[in-house]
Amino acid sequence: MKERPILRRCVACKKLLDRKHLLRVIRDHQDGVVFNTGSGRSAYLCPNEDCLEEAFRRKRLNKALRCQVPSNVLEALHERLVQTDDLVAKAKLSTPQQLKSGPDAPSASTKRRT
Ligand SMILES: [Zn+2]
Repeated sequence: MKERPILRRCVACKKLLDRKHLLRVIRDHQDGVVFNTGSGRSAYLCPNEDCLEEAFRRKRLNKALRCQVPSNVLEALHERLVQTDDLVAKAKLSTPQQLKSGPDAPSASTKRRT
């Protein structure tokens, strides 16, 4: 049996995504606004720059959480995002680049001859 994903809506692009893949920002009763862990009203964001930007600019998180989201939380989110990007970049680097060169890659076989 497959586990059913818990879908949550990104506050920026409004897409429904598996909760596991989203950044979670929580308005915790004790610690104020935190992310990833805590209990309270939560808002979700896709882990990408566009949605983060959109959420910043339009104050989507503030609206979703009905409070002021401190800038250090936004910074922490952004940092986390950069780290994730870094991991993705590293993963890409480690994969061989041969995928692109096939019969449809003219630059490799037909080089410009002058
Ligand atoms: Zn999004």
